[in-house]
Amino acid sequence: MCGPEWLEQGMKHVWLPYTQMQTTLPPLPAVSTDGCTITLADGTELVDGIASWWTACHGYNHPHIHQAVSAQLIRMPHVMFGGLVNEPALTLARRLAAMLPGDLDRVFFTDSGSVAVEVAMKMAIQYWLNRGQTGRTRLVAFRGGYHGDTMATMAVCDPEEGMHSLYQGALPEHFIADLPVNVAGMQALDTLLAQSAGSIAAIIVEPLVQGAGGMLFHTPDVLRTLRELADRHGVLLILDEIFTGFGRTGTMFACEQAGIVPDIITLSKALTGGTMALAATVARAHVFDAFLSDDPLHALMHGPTFMANALACACANASLDLFDTEPRLQQVAAIETQMRDELESCRSLPHVVDVRVMGAIGVVELDRISDMNALKSALIAQGVWVRPFRNIVYLTPAFTVTRSELSHLTKAIRTVVSELGQAAPHRR
Ligand code: PMP
Repeated sequence: MCGPEWLEQGMKHVWLPYTQMQTTLPPLPAVSTDGCTITLADGTELVDGIASWWTACHGYNHPHIHQAVSAQLIRMPHVMFGGLVNEPALTLARRLAAMLPGDLDRVFFTDSGSVAVEVAMKMAIQYWLNRGQTGRTRLVAFRGGYHGDTMATMAVCDPEEGMHSLYQGALPEHFIADLPVNVAGMQALDTLLAQSAGSIAAIIVEPLVQGAGGMLFHTPDVLRTLRELADRHGVLLILDEIFTGFGRTGTMFACEQAGIVPDIITLSKALTGGTMALAATVARAHVFDAFLSDDPLHALMHGPTFMANALACACANASLDLFDTEPRLQQVAAIETQMRDELESCRSLPHVVDVRVMGAIGVVELDRISDMNALKSALIAQGVWVRPFRNIVYLTPAFTVTRSELSHLTKAIRTVVSELGQAAPHRR
C-alpha cells in the first residue's frame, strides 16, 4: 500500500512497541475511528475486536465523552496537582471511592497502568516501614501474571513474560508462585507465606483473568483463598484490575465476584473509556492511615507531572456517567452469550486446544501459531482488527459492539483459524 507522506517520513523515526523493527510487517495507518470501526488511510474499514488494548469500552468517539473533554479543554486542560487540586479529579476520586467495595477510598492518580502498579508496590512496602517493620520488601506474584513493562513491574510479571533471565541483575527478586487453584497450590503458598512473611509486603494478582500472560482464567475461589492467606499471614493483598476493571469480566470490578476487598487496587485502561491516559491506585483506610504521621518521611513520595490531569479526569467522569446511563453490564452479558455460541464451533478445528469466554473476553487458544505475520494479515483481509499473541487469538470488543459486528469478528476468527489447519507451512 502506498501510504500518506506522514507515514513514510515518520516511520523512519518511531520505535514501535513489542516489535522486532527489522522483520515486522509495516503498521497500518489509522486516520479515524467511530464506534467499533477503525478507518485506514486508504479508506479500508476494520471492525475492532480489541478496543485499543481493552480501553475503548464505549466504542470510539462517544459524543458524551467528547462533550466532556471539549468543555474541560476550554476551561482548564491541566494544572499541576502539587499544592493545587481540580474539580474533575476530586469528583472522580469521590465517585471511584463510592463504586469500589469496602473502604477502598483513597485514590492516588497516575498516568499509566505500570506506574499505578509501581505506586501500589511502593505503598505496600512503605506501609510496613511506617509501622516500624523493616525488611518487608518482597512481593508474592504469580506465574502467568502481567503487571506492566517498567522495571519494577517486570519483576512481578511471569518470569518469562517479564524477561527475568535476560534482565537478571537489573530486576529486584520477588517470590513468583503458582496460583493456588487447588489444595496442593494452596498449601504451597501457605508454606511460602509461613516461612517468609517477615520479608513479604504484599501479594499481587490480576483477579479472575491473567490477561497479557495468555488470557488465563481462574475462579473467584482463588481470590478468596488469597484474601484468606494474606490475612492469616499478615501481608497486604493488591488486586491489579487494570484489565478487568469497569465491566470486562461481567461485573464492574472482578473482585465483586469473589466478595473480597483487597487492601490496594489498581485501575486504568477503561477508566477513561479509552480516550485519554489515566490510572489510579486506590488504598483502603488502614493503608492510608499508616502514612499519617508527624514525620515527613512517612509521606508517600510520588507525584507524576501529569497526575490527576483535568482533561483525563473529566473524560473518566464522562465514562462513569455512561455506565450509569447506558446498559453496559447487560451488553457485556449479551456479548458473553453470543461469543460462547459463536466461538464454540472453533473448538473442533485443527490446532485449537481451548475456547473460553468470560464476560466480554473471548479466547481461542491454539497449540501454536507458527506464522504470526500471516495470521495477522489474514485477519485484516477479513476486515477485522484482532491482535493474536503467542498462541492466543482473542476478542475484547467495546461493550457497544453490535450483534452483526461481533458476528463478523467471530466469523473472521473461525475462517482464519480453519485456514491454519489446511495451510502448508507458510513463508513470509
Ligand atoms: N496491569 C495489567 C493487568 C495490564 O493488563 C497492563 C497493560 N496491559 C498493565 C498493568 C500496564 O499498563 P500500562 O500499559 O498502561 O502501563
